[in-house]
Amino acid sequence: MEQIKADTPHDVYQTWFADLTAEVELEAGSITILAPSGAKLRTVRESYGSTITQYVRRLAGKDMDIVWAVADNGPSTSFSAPQTEDKQPDISATGLLPYLTFENLVEGQANQMAYASALQVASSTKSIYNPLFIYGGVGLGKTHLMHAIGNRFLKNNPKAKVLCVSAQQYTHEFVDAIRLKNVNLDRYTEAMRKFDERYRNIDMLLIDDIQSFRDKDGTQTNFFLTFENMVPHGKQIVLTSDTYPKNLPEFQDRLLSRLTQGLIVMIEPPEFEMRVQILLQKAERSGLEMPQEVAEIIAKRIKSNVRELEGAVQQILAYTRFHQVPVTIDTAKMALRDIFKASATPVTIENIQKTVAEYYGIKPGDIVAKSRKANLVRARQVAMYLSKELTNKSLPEIGAMFGGRDHTTVIYAHRKVNSDRNTDEALKHDIHLLEQRLKN
Ligand code: ADP
Ligand code: MG
Repeated sequence: MEQIKADTPHDVYQTWFADLTAEVELEAGSITILAPSGAKLRTVRESYGSTITQYVRRLAGKDMDIVWAVADNGPSTSFSAPQTEDKQPDISATGLLPYLTFENLVEGQANQMAYASALQVASSTKSIYNPLFIYGGVGLGKTHLMHAIGNRFLKNNPKAKVLCVSAQQYTHEFVDAIRLKNVNLDRYTEAMRKFDERYRNIDMLLIDDIQSFRDKDGTQTNFFLTFENMVPHGKQIVLTSDTYPKNLPEFQDRLLSRLTQGLIVMIEPPEFEMRVQILLQKAERSGLEMPQEVAEIIAKRIKSNVRELEGAVQQILAYTRFHQVPVTIDTAKMALRDIFKASATPVTIENIQKTVAEYYGIKPGDIVAKSRKANLVRARQVAMYLSKELTNKSLPEIGAMFGGRDHTTVIYAHRKVNSDRNTDEALKHDIHLLEQRLKN
């Protein structure tokens, strides 16, 4: 635990690790981690399980069996985290992570719609968007936004019953109950009653990573009933997923139609300014003084997701503390030398042109040609837009690579695509996919 304490931001440590205890049995090769409550156990195991496994392996020099258990002496007082602002309702049973709030979620173009709708859902008691369906790639802030909704809603309505689980957890609990069917009918009935009560008798249900219901027909059927028990009665459901609902494979049609009946919002990869803001915010929260210019060079390198930005801040923190140096461009580059090396082959304009042409099924030559055919113009504009977003080339350089066009043409294309993508779902989707292809 000491090692984790040294490596973890203070407030995170206080909230999640401070009141865990570990009992090590080296010979048996096992370690028991005791948490003060079941809810805490579940959240720590889900969010930090793999981190803890890694620590244990490092410290013990071998893999150990990790046993999770709730300590006998009941919830310790430190669980109602000393850090939480003012008097909060008890959230330990809700599954909500208290540090995932709107306050520390950076807003930008990439999550603007999602952020605004989330805030509305959290702030109103009449469900306007129900369900709210949030989707986007890995590490873009879906889980964070979902917990922020729950936390804010509970703050506004301290008496409300809120439950936040991963889709996997929902499935586990359901399967655990259903399994009793062949064991003992009374116990089965009782378990199902408890399950339904837990999930249907509430004001807000938040389920993370709903895509994992994919091949679970029984769970889908059950969730459909949960849905029908809540949404028509004005009880809010919030869901996250890694894809657009219509793209969820192996989902029952009736469930898909329910999932799309509310509001669907996408979180996109953060744009440059947002990445800079996130870096500065994460640095500040870790007590690290990061100059703007340092945040900018990192933001130019790390483009894919927020989790990587966080990782970068942690690496810089570790490096500068260890060497007792301030954060400068040079120390940041040293701390992140792997990242700077790995992305030494940046996205090139040629690469963008080729990928965009392929994507739209046109000839690469058409991208730079003079034709004004609408579909070619669109592809060309998208390629210019991506060139500005993803490479370090100047506007005149980009123009030159596109058949010797003027830099004002590039500016126009960038603006046009940037504004169209706010209203044009298909375009937004194209850009999302293209960015992901180019970054891999
Ligand atoms: P996802 O669920 O989409 O995979 P997470 O919500 O787990 O992503 O986000 C990954 C990490 O990045 C989390 O630590 C989260 O707090 C952080 N994060 C994501 N988006 C933002 C943002 N807009 N501002 C600040 N932190 C963010
Ligand atoms: Mg997530």
